Amino acid sequence: MEQPALRVIDACKTYDRSDHAALLPTSFEVARGEFVSLVGPSGCGKSTLLGMIAGLLTPDAGTIEALGRPVTGPGDGRAIVFQDAALFPWLTVLHNVEYGLRAHKVPKAERRERVEDALRLVHLDHVADKYPYELSGGMRQRASIARALVMRPEILLMDEPFSALDAQTRTILSDELQRIWLETRPAVVFVTHNLIEAAFLSDTVHLLSSGPGRIVKTYDIDIPRPRDEADPALLELRHDMLDRLRAEVDDAAERRAQVAEVSAL
Ligand code: ADP
Ligand code: MG
Repeated sequence: MEQPALRVIDACKTYDRSDHAALLPTSFEVARGEFVSLVGPSGCGKSTLLGMIAGLLTPDAGTIEALGRPVTGPGDGRAIVFQDAALFPWLTVLHNVEYGLRAHKVPKAERRERVEDALRLVHLDHVADKYPYELSGGMRQRASIARALVMRPEILLMDEPFSALDAQTRTILSDELQRIWLETRPAVVFVTHNLIEAAFLSDTVHLLSSGPGRIVKTYDIDIPRPRDEADPALLELRHDMLDRLRAEVDDAAERRAQVAEVSAL
């Protein structure tokens, strides 16, 4: 059988000076080309889990394998996109996207071709020579997606990449991400607290709950693609996830605040 893109085995994390685990021992696999989301309220350990997969954080115990090799640091077939575009303000879009290729000493002709491909994929070819301050928030986030795609990652990691955007831009970008993923087919681990977004994009959704963080339910979503965000089946899924999350919040004192937060997902 083909090796999965990612294998997370009993990975867990408790931060120093914290009295509870940010993430209890957690296991799951991501097949090659599969789109997996980690979804749940803030503080449930999504970024902790993604950070460990990215190689930016070390698990206290357990193992993480990417493409059959133990993760010991960033890179090695994995690229990550964060909530804030974090582009270099003194570089044009083109040079921001090209940066990682230069660092990897990719020859100039190949660099140019790959940058052009990546910019075309995110529909930014017309602003290649602009600087980040000249772009809208949505365009900056497209540029940071291009910066990840240009590395042609087998594993694309995304931590709430659309959270800082307005609702309309967010819908447009998640539709674009679906198209880009269908065209390029990396394995994706996508972190969001938006339940519809997770259901819309994913083959598999792991629902996490907090205090301490853990996966409480896994959904396999086999709605054919390309999908439509207005598909009633997605709304039904959101309902089910909300019920599941509300049921998790059983401590009376915490309940009011958390149910309010969960209901906003
Ligand atoms: P999420 O991304 O789902 O919002 P996080 O993984 O960021 O959740 O956080 C999980 C838990 O770990 C939270 O209780 C958070 O306060 C705590 N935490 C996250 N980062 C740190 C850190 N660097 N030091 C201490 N506690 C942290
Ligand atoms: Mg987070």
